[in-house]
Amino acid sequence: MRFPLGLTLAVSRYMMSQAVHRRKRYPTTLMLEPLYTCNLACVGCSTERHTGKLSDRLTLAECLEAVDVSNTPTMSLCGGEPTLYPELPDLIEGLVKRGKYIFLCTNTLAIEKGLFDRIPPDPHLLVNVHLDGMRETHDFVCNRKGVFDHAVAMIGESKRRGYQTMTNTTVYQETSMAEVEELCEMLMGMDVDGMLISPGYQYSTVEQDIFMKRDDIHAKFSQVMALSKRYPLTATPGFLRFCAGQKELKCSPYSTVTRTPMGWKGPCYLIEEKFYPTYDEFWNSTDWEYWESRQDERCRNCYMHSGFEASAVQAASSNPKELLELMAWNMTKPKRKK
Ligand code: SF4
Repeated sequence: MRFPLGLTLAVSRYMMSQAVHRRKRYPTTLMLEPLYTCNLACVGCSTERHTGKLSDRLTLAECLEAVDVSNTPTMSLCGGEPTLYPELPDLIEGLVKRGKYIFLCTNTLAIEKGLFDRIPPDPHLLVNVHLDGMRETHDFVCNRKGVFDHAVAMIGESKRRGYQTMTNTTVYQETSMAEVEELCEMLMGMDVDGMLISPGYQYSTVEQDIFMKRDDIHAKFSQVMALSKRYPLTATPGFLRFCAGQKELKCSPYSTVTRTPMGWKGPCYLIEEKFYPTYDEFWNSTDWEYWESRQDERCRNCYMHSGFEASAVQAASSNPKELLELMAWNMTKPKRKK
């Protein structure tokens, strides 16, 4: 399967219970950013995510309160660099006790002391390594030489130690699809458990023009669709069709709610129009209809996984043909040849 069975069942149960309660909008993933401190300053990252002081991090109690109030089955533990979060072992323990599935997003620079030495593998924990291309591209994106080699070594070490290990790749304007294929081939050879490939978001705080516009995204993701038949890509067929320009979707900004050291971020994971002190305030004062419609200037070139994957899954669940395709896709995972 593309995703672990337990995770698939937990998400399916959750979605069914939302349908039974006739909820039109609900979150599926909590983007938990306990700290805005990072050991890198990548060129495609919004500035506030890597310039925060460690002392301004969320407390363990604040993190767990965010988990309980949003009540999603999955979470993306990001930041900042989450392996620098001093309370990470207690946080992961609290999440596992609650039955949550955790994607721990890391650049791997501090993974040995931050994760390997402190937290054992668990079926609920998926290590998700940032890797935006082969050596030259990834080191350029991370603004530091040697990051690629370290990340590749740590992917191997993570697998060796028994952690479920995935990768997360952002495609930029300059990214060549031949390089993306080379990366997929290398990662498949390392037997990674999944690869997410998605377009980057044009943050207003990023000065360099590295982000793709609509036509670039459509052209590159037509090729990613072909790659998903040969490699264990984790973006669903519906989402990839949307990125390839073959399908229209409304946005689901509410599907990935974001708790940061500055509060609940609204309206979505990407746009920080306002930080709210409480979840209820965030949820009840965001104009979801407006943001779903993508009429805002800042939504124009957005094809973000955080906004549209849930839309793709919801669209598939009301279309028998697409639902069958989605189920078949999840059951059939391309594997490396032994
Ligand atoms: S289209 Fe993108 S930027 Fe606009 S609300 Fe959705 S996720 Fe946010």
